[in-house]
Amino acid sequence: MSKIMAVNAGSSSIKFQLLEMPAEEVIASGVMERIGLEQGIFTIKYIKNGEKVKEETNPVLPTHAEGVELLLNSLLEKNIVKDLKEIVGVGHRVVQGGEFFKDSCLIDGPDGVVINKILELADLAPLHNRAHVIGIRAFMKVLPDVPEVAVFDTTFHQTMEEEAYMYATPYEWYTKYGIRKYGAHGTSHQYVSQRCAEIMNKPLEDTKIIVCHLGNGASISAVKGGKCIDTSMGLTPLEGIPMGTRSGNIDPTALEVVAKHEGASLSELINTLNKKSGLLGMGGRTNDARDVTAGANEGDHRCIMAFNVQAKRIVDYIASYYVYLGGCDAICFTAGMGENLCHLREKICNRLGVLGVKIDTEVNNQTYGVEKELSTPESKIKVYVVPTNEEVMIARDVCRLANI
Ligand code: ADP
Repeated sequence: MSKIMAVNAGSSSIKFQLLEMPAEEVIASGVMERIGLEQGIFTIKYIKNGEKVKEETNPVLPTHAEGVELLLNSLLEKNIVKDLKEIVGVGHRVVQGGEFFKDSCLIDGPDGVVINKILELADLAPLHNRAHVIGIRAFMKVLPDVPEVAVFDTTFHQTMEEEAYMYATPYEWYTKYGIRKYGAHGTSHQYVSQRCAEIMNKPLEDTKIIVCHLGNGASISAVKGGKCIDTSMGLTPLEGIPMGTRSGNIDPTALEVVAKHEGASLSELINTLNKKSGLLGMGGRTNDARDVTAGANEGDHRCIMAFNVQAKRIVDYIASYYVYLGGCDAICFTAGMGENLCHLREKICNRLGVLGVKIDTEVNNQTYGVEKELSTPESKIKVYVVPTNEEVMIARDVCRLANI
């Protein structure tokens, strides 16, 4: 048995999961937040004397390196590992891999080709890629002899055909600046589509699956024979369906109109589309679907509208992917909202009745965060909730690439 650390480093946080492989068992998980601020937050969940425990402390975490050191020391102190040598590989989520990374890969040192390429691609994901590199370097410093693997959100979508990934903009934008659709959430779409084929007991090569990853960030993918043929996110995660705080697709001219009225810069307006739109912008409460649901239940028109707009746009994508796939075996819901928000799933599935989709409302209403078939036997397309597991995909790739 080998222990693998799956890491998702952000600009001020590091999420982690320590997994026992190949059993794929989670031994510990948690997050370090508020790195670089006066007081950090370190949350860790693990099994202590046979019981699940969650502990929270407030250490000072000046940089990611101190965060990683603290994490590894606490694994020893809490007896989660007896020796750090038990950790034989580290996998890092990286949001943007561009066209360069067609697969996950071993990282060749803190200043090697891989790190430099990830930094070069930071133009396409400024908030994420630089933070990932800080996280990767922090782990390399503390665990210098352990293989580290980069797992990209974009590689699963690299199988899209030109007709699906190209924008109808001047061709030079693509050749000079790499302007095209890259997608995101790839590890989730891959995990869920593979798991769905297993649930259906069908060879993956013979499946046509639409995955709806509906979290705070949300995207939809069309997966044919285990390969992605289209996805709703674009150059960045801003494109596609309305999300917690992101607008999804809009006419870019809106930016010019608002800029004229408010004197705002382009980057301020893009920030508004990323951070202040979606459920938050439409509903006027928060970006948390539970708060918007509470508003809708009170009869707040804007909250009701927010879910209607979101459901309509999700259905638009599903209908379009149904045609592009040439039919569909299964629609899968995953991530925070997909796994838990039964009223949204019902709204979506009812609108898909025209394609022969039929779900058992009672089963749907009782399904929260567990794997479950929602469709009735007569439904022409199966509908499932499949909880996502990006960390397992990361750990599997570490084992594959580092020969563990
Ligand atoms: P991300 O990983 O993009 O931050 P998540 O997959 O954690 O997002 O999903 C967050 C969203 O899921 C939030 O809008 C939250 O309200 C919603 N969500 C999470 N748990 C529940 C629940 N039990 N009931 C309803 N909505 C939930």
